Amino acid sequence: MSEDKDLLENVPEDKKDDVSKQKTKEDEYEKVCFLCRRPESKTGPMITLPQNIHICTDCMQKSFDTMNNSNINYNDLMSHMPNISMIDLSSLPNQVPEKQRVKKSKPEKEKKSFTMKDVPPPHKIKARLDEYVIGQEHAKKVISVGVYNHYKRVLASEESNDVEIAKSNMLMIGPTGSGKTYLVQTLARLLDVPLAITDATSLTEAGYIGDDIESVVSKLLAAADNDVERAEHGIIFIDEIDKIAKKKNTNQRDVSGEAVQQGMLKLLEGSDVEVPVGANSKNAMVPLTTVNTSNILFICGGAFPDLGEVIKERLNKKSAIGFQSELRDKYDKDKNILDKVTVEDLRNFGMVPEFLGRLPIIFTLQGLDKDMLVKILKEPKNAILKQYKKLLDMDEVKLEFAEDALEAIAEKALEKDTGARALRAILEEYMLDIMYEIPKDDSIGEVVITRAYIEHTGGPQILLRGQEPYQIEQK
Ligand code: ADP
Repeated sequence: MSEDKDLLENVPEDKKDDVSKQKTKEDEYEKVCFLCRRPESKTGPMITLPQNIHICTDCMQKSFDTMNNSNINYNDLMSHMPNISMIDLSSLPNQVPEKQRVKKSKPEKEKKSFTMKDVPPPHKIKARLDEYVIGQEHAKKVISVGVYNHYKRVLASEESNDVEIAKSNMLMIGPTGSGKTYLVQTLARLLDVPLAITDATSLTEAGYIGDDIESVVSKLLAAADNDVERAEHGIIFIDEIDKIAKKKNTNQRDVSGEAVQQGMLKLLEGSDVEVPVGANSKNAMVPLTTVNTSNILFICGGAFPDLGEVIKERLNKKSAIGFQSELRDKYDKDKNILDKVTVEDLRNFGMVPEFLGRLPIIFTLQGLDKDMLVKILKEPKNAILKQYKKLLDMDEVKLEFAEDALEAIAEKALEKDTGARALRAILEEYMLDIMYEIPKDDSIGEVVITRAYIEHTGGPQILLRGQEPYQIEQK
């Protein structure tokens, strides 16, 4: 407290508030050694120099040793080289950047991070997901139960019960744009836990060009505001996991495929990892901290494009044998072939058995059809249509979409074959002119988007305030 007083003594009255805010913020973070960048929890107490620079005792000792051991007479040296001086502390940037600093861990009695009350039961999780994610009933159910069990396990392990519950990491299989990332994002938001999303394609075995596997934990730490305890209860979503399947017929070292799967085993299972704070790779100028991954929920997702073929092959082989042999093309038209996936199929696809063993919950998402796309346009809590309506509402203009116009948009999206991802881009294209033209004319009261407008055969219907509707010319 007396230090606080000193600090505030020479500060003008109106700035005092800012300084004390800065001070409390400072208190949340650990000190970091200015030279070796290790946090205080690793180095022990530090010596504080002016400008808020901290040096750990090891580095201090090393500097003294260097000076004592060398035969250089510094005064002599200085007089010969007038332009060189010893480091002037005040000229240094006066802090280690905030994103490279780790939050202090809380005292034991404040620690109780969460209780079972913070985790809603599966049906409530699913009900919240329903508000945002359309369809995918099975996936939502599996993920709700999986997450619920995961956090039960976390609590059980904190209470050190004798029965150890296995970790429920998940593997999610579904075509592009079917809502894999969106599902996980929604989940993390409603549970209020930090989430890191990474692309498996950017990862390589340590030492090769690309991100080290541990960088995923680093990202999570950043998402948790450098609060290690919060990060340790977070979720890591690794997308495009199918891209790290074992490469077939290759003699070269597979640094971005099989090796990455192997490298991830430890993380998935739970281990202490030393991660760089505020950067993707370790180097001398980045502080490191230790994060334990045992309570981090890993969800992997991928489109697994040719997995259908692998499953068909297995099913056809099975059905071609014996008396009940069936037609070979029986499964060719099966739209939901991915639902029949087994661990064996994934292994044939190129996933390593140990890797699959650490993802015990495997489930699939369906490709979106026209009806689902129409629903995605209008039903979710933050549906794209609702967003546009709100925007025009601010100009006091009502925006309506004819049902067949929505179908036309869905049909266009289906052609692009990128699932729901195409919807926004398509709609944006049509809404641009509307958003540009409407504010020009105060008399317009309502705009109706018609199928003709979407198909470029007509214009939207414009209703003037208190007048009959009429068609505007298509440009
Ligand atoms: P991917 O399966 O490739 O990860 P995304 O989750 O990124 O696909 O989906 C892209 C966008 O499409 C999301 O941001 C979301 O707005 C929308 N979307 C996809 N599927 C659904 C769904 N089932 N319900 C609601 N919106 C969805």
